[in-house]
Amino acid sequence: MKGFPALPMLNLHAVQWHSRANGPGNRAVFWFQGCSFRCPGCFNPGTHSHAPRLLVPVSDLLDRIEQSQSTLEGITVSGGEPLEQAEGLLHLVRGVREMPLLSLVLFSGLTRERIQELPLAQEILASVDVLIAGPFVRELRTGKNLRGSSNQEVHLLSNRYDALHIAGTPVGEVHIDARGMVSVTGIDPPIL
Ligand code: SF4
Repeated sequence: MKGFPALPMLNLHAVQWHSRANGPGNRAVFWFQGCSFRCPGCFNPGTHSHAPRLLVPVSDLLDRIEQSQSTLEGITVSGGEPLEQAEGLLHLVRGVREMPLLSLVLFSGLTRERIQELPLAQEILASVDVLIAGPFVRELRTGKNLRGSSNQEVHLLSNRYDALHIAGTPVGEVHIDARGMVSVTGIDPPIL
């Protein structure tokens, strides 16, 4: 274990170290805390507040990812709105990019055009394999191919995946943790 140098803190909503419904293959998923958009019908309004929830140094996350990488296909970053923590996100995706077997999927409520206006966008997207971009629109709900609503666009930014990989991602899953706590994830998770 090389240990990563001290890097910024991320404010996370939740972490799931083994998921198959948030991108191709077995993935670690980080839901960022904080989102300014307030899309009507948002699947997870608990992510909206910017108040500190789960503060984690990026270096700690990268250390854990490095320890787990042999069991992972990649990392998925979702939210909340990850680009509202752009500096920490950049350090995270750059660190993951140094682990060449891992892929990166990023969900954002911003369109790709708006993302590209952000100061760190180019550097962040350079490390991302799949970007799902655009706000959730309740009236256009679809719940498949990693899109919550049909206005959202899936951008394949590298040659790591194709449309079949995206279509093959399960739409939902159920997790039961060691304490018996049940949670659901995915683009169209089951209602329990
Ligand atoms: S961008 Fe995502 S997290 Fe933010 S309000 Fe819209 S659906 Fe919810």
